[in-house]
Amino acid sequence: MIAAQDTLLKEKLKEVFGYSQFRGNQEAVINTILSERNTFVIMPTGAGKSLCYQLPAIIKSGTAIVISPLIALMKNQVDQLNALGVNAQFLNSTLSQAEITKVKRDVTNGEVKLLYVAPESLTKEENIAFLQKADISFVAIDEAHCISEWGHDFRPEYRKIKTIIDNLGNLPIIALTATATPKVQTDIQKNLHMEEADLFKSSFNRQNLFYEVRPKVDTKKQLIRYIKNHKGKSGIVYCLSRKKVEEIAELLNVNDIKTLPYHAGLDASVRIANQDAFLNEDVDVIVATIAFGMGIDKPDVRFVIHYDTPKSLEGYYQETGRAGRDGLEGNCVMFYSYNDILKLDKFNKDKQVTERENAKHLLQEMAAYAESSVCRRRQLLHYFGEQLNEDCGFCDNCLRAKEKFEAQEDIMLAIQAVLQTNQRFDISHLTDVLRGYENQYVCSYNHNLLSVYGKGAGKEANYWQSVIRQILIYNFLEKDVENYGVLRITAKGMDFLENPYPVTLTKDHDFSNAMEEDEEDREGGAPATGKACDPVLFEMLKALQRKVAREKKLPPYAVFQEPSLEEMATTYPTSKEELSRVNGVGLGKVEKFGRPFIELIAKYVADNDIETATDVVIKSTANKSKSKIYIIQQIDRKVGLDDIAEAQGISMADLLKEIEHICYSGTRLNLDYYIEDMMDGDRQDEIYDYFMQADTDNIQAALNALGADDYTEEELRLIRIKFLSEVAN
Ligand code: ADP
Ligand code: ZN
Repeated sequence: MIAAQDTLLKEKLKEVFGYSQFRGNQEAVINTILSERNTFVIMPTGAGKSLCYQLPAIIKSGTAIVISPLIALMKNQVDQLNALGVNAQFLNSTLSQAEITKVKRDVTNGEVKLLYVAPESLTKEENIAFLQKADISFVAIDEAHCISEWGHDFRPEYRKIKTIIDNLGNLPIIALTATATPKVQTDIQKNLHMEEADLFKSSFNRQNLFYEVRPKVDTKKQLIRYIKNHKGKSGIVYCLSRKKVEEIAELLNVNDIKTLPYHAGLDASVRIANQDAFLNEDVDVIVATIAFGMGIDKPDVRFVIHYDTPKSLEGYYQETGRAGRDGLEGNCVMFYSYNDILKLDKFNKDKQVTERENAKHLLQEMAAYAESSVCRRRQLLHYFGEQLNEDCGFCDNCLRAKEKFEAQEDIMLAIQAVLQTNQRFDISHLTDVLRGYENQYVCSYNHNLLSVYGKGAGKEANYWQSVIRQILIYNFLEKDVENYGVLRITAKGMDFLENPYPVTLTKDHDFSNAMEEDEEDREGGAPATGKACDPVLFEMLKALQRKVAREKKLPPYAVFQEPSLEEMATTYPTSKEELSRVNGVGLGKVEKFGRPFIELIAKYVADNDIETATDVVIKSTANKSKSKIYIIQQIDRKVGLDDIAEAQGISMADLLKEIEHICYSGTRLNLDYYIEDMMDGDRQDEIYDYFMQADTDNIQAALNALGADDYTEEELRLIRIKFLSEVAN
């Protein structure tokens, strides 16, 4: 009989789905559910979970209920099955009453093999009554992690599923998910009363995926450079908000990368069209919010970029899972900034207490992952309850040199702390005990009396957390699945206490430079902060700036401002055109001072084999603001500044700021008509001469030097604009 069933399964697999072989655990899973046993399937995205319930549903008599949280996904699957000639239908809130009646009739007549139901619909009385009468073969619960509030996608309705199923009779259940930490897994099994279920857990390791985390600095530039280096390949860029999706999609298009946006705010027809354009390779890149593409299956996505830091490792892992489904190249880049973590945490503030706490934990795991310099794959797999005993050699942390330290003593202390507190506390409490931090919890448990208390006082909390996280990954400690956050000692940890040996750990990355960020938060045209700037080239450019200034008898800042030099040392412009795109450098400046700078950079680039910025100069999407153009036009027409300010509805100070901005971006402005009216020639000359010999164009410095009683700030600023326009632009 076994052999016969084997053959039958293979035949159906070929006949209906066109595949000649099962993948991984599929066949075993199918056999289990066919023999009416509860089945729990944990398989990474793309491994082929759907087939695990679709095939048995087709074989068994009656209708299988498939509970699935996403209506879009449901429709997609039903369409696919119908295309294969399988009668599948769905029941959800998008259907009209007439459609619902038809679906129910078809089910009652035994025509439907799979009925997809949203959990909300399942809880409706009339649907339950109808299902009780139908011939149901089994129940499949897709995305089963939604059951657990410890997961990243908790849905309260999912908690009621079990009770409803019980109302329908004694039906076998198959629960499936692509993301379950050990904690979530136990939680699901408990909730579904299927602790005894046959568990099929495939490895989550996606060997062909390359993981990389980059600081979120100059992100747009990095993004464009990255995509241009993967020219013609398909990729997905994930952003957290719809607005960001639109903005980035536009940015990429402007920079000659064929891109379309995808998010829930778009019309369904637009979404489908964009999705098709991506599948058909009319565009290379899709920029999406994370809700994207639950139903999309493009096998040759070559890169998945997280422009914003994701909310959880579960989400992150699922999304990266869309890369390289064909087993070939797949690159996963995440831009990380602790600012993003803080922002995300703020979004959670309106949630219920437990939900908020859980969301916070998930965020902390995310931050720890990003900042750690332990092999990414080891970390990810560990998070999902899988132990990798060696570094993978194929992730940024494995390939990058990192700072190591000998940690035998500190590992001893950390394990001691767990032991002495009776293996009942979480990482932050353990850290407090180690550092001798006398807070109310530590005192209430008398942990300030332990011998390990305060033994690690010389080191920061971050340090201890990093040590503890690393020895978790290296299996000296483990998480207690019953009690969230609680750490316990493994057998390996116990052995280590008795017979310690040298262990090296690695220092976490320092992402503090990604803290201030954000290009999005910065003033429109403000120059890059130069964090990614090449310090050697920068020094060379500064020397050149001073040399040119001496030759031309100008102050150095009148040649190029320092932020412009920093940007040059970041983007390596090697042509006039490229140089003119640097913030603060207009065509006038390029003509006046550009040549030696371009020559210096070109030589430097050639000598050091540097990939030039040709591809990377960002064409800004922000059209020069209308008000700027207006101001330039009005000044050309010699309109009084007070009139311009009034017409624009802004103060004089703000208008001057705008004008300075225009001037610092390299546009020459002639304000003589206004200045002449306002101050006499001597005063003008005095200020002008001051700026000519000053080290800085700082206004406060000018006020100090010239005397705040004698000159107004407005006068100084006006002359500074005149000066810069005449000598620098
Ligand atoms: P998951 O739900 O686990 O993310 P899917 O069920 O969407 O994955 O399957 C991913 C892809 O693998 C689909 O294109 C599916 O048709 C394909 N697939 C599933 N099983 C097999 C198989 N046995 N042989 C070949 N392709 C398969
Ligand atoms: Zn690695």
